[in-house]
Amino acid sequence: MSYETYKTLIYIWMGVAVAVFLLLFKVTAPYGRHSSKKWGPQVSNRLGWVIMEAPGMILLLFYVLTHIANQNAMTWVLVGLYIFHYINRTFIFPFRTRTKTKKMPLVVMLMAIVFNLANGFFLGYYFAHFADYSISDFVGVQFISGLILFVLGMYINWDYDNRLIHLRKPGETGYKIPHGGLFKYISCPNLMGEVIEWTGYALMSWSLPALSFFVWTIANLVPRARSHHKWYRKNFENYPLKRKALIPFVI
Ligand code: NDP
Repeated sequence: MSYETYKTLIYIWMGVAVAVFLLLFKVTAPYGRHSSKKWGPQVSNRLGWVIMEAPGMILLLFYVLTHIANQNAMTWVLVGLYIFHYINRTFIFPFRTRTKTKKMPLVVMLMAIVFNLANGFFLGYYFAHFADYSISDFVGVQFISGLILFVLGMYINWDYDNRLIHLRKPGETGYKIPHGGLFKYISCPNLMGEVIEWTGYALMSWSLPALSFFVWTIANLVPRARSHHKWYRKNFENYPLKRKALIPFVI
């Protein structure tokens, strides 16, 4: 595929993200606390996470490993960080959650597979055919500031996923109001961490597929944070009034 065709496809994919962003303000993605039987057949929540998150990582690895000669230190760092994130999301996060008996709609799992395959394809194909990094990029402002943001975002995401998971004692299934740290300001620090993480990745990589991944992260997580926040307000009378959804003091 030529770079022109690749660029056209990725712009179309980003256009789909904008449509999904708008749609998700009308229709809440039905998994986690928003899961519902109305969406047809269901699968185990944990299995769903593993099956939907793995394909993108595998596809990216396929492209990179079948084009090893085209890789350099920079692409290996970018591939490594992506895989590091997805190993947690696919194989660690689902087994740490206290959601053993919960289910998610099959349709959510299938849509997430499409999302992850497309992202894995665009990044993997880029690293395999078009990336043109040099070693001097490692000392560029973009790379260094991006790396700092990526690590900070990942730390916040893992830490606050963890704090939320541990609100339930083993065997419990309900929800509680989270307190402390960034919860003083926002309902979803874990989602904010993920947005910071992929902002950093887009800066480090300075490429169209990483920009596209960032756009999709915004498209998924801004409406999701809003839905979580509204859900807390509806379900807890004493929910802190000053708390925002995703960005302290803003939204
Ligand atoms: P949530 O914050 O809703 O849930 C995280 C975990 O904590 C779940 O196991 C959840 O249980 C539990 N939990 C959350 N809140 C409470 C509470 N108040 N009381 C008790 N337990 C609670 O995260 P999401 O499901 O929205 O997302 C999970 C992860 O996936 C996040 O790290 C997010 O950043 C990432 N993600 C990334 C996307 C992207 O496009 N890059 C898209 C979507 C998610 P339960 O499942 O039962 O609600």
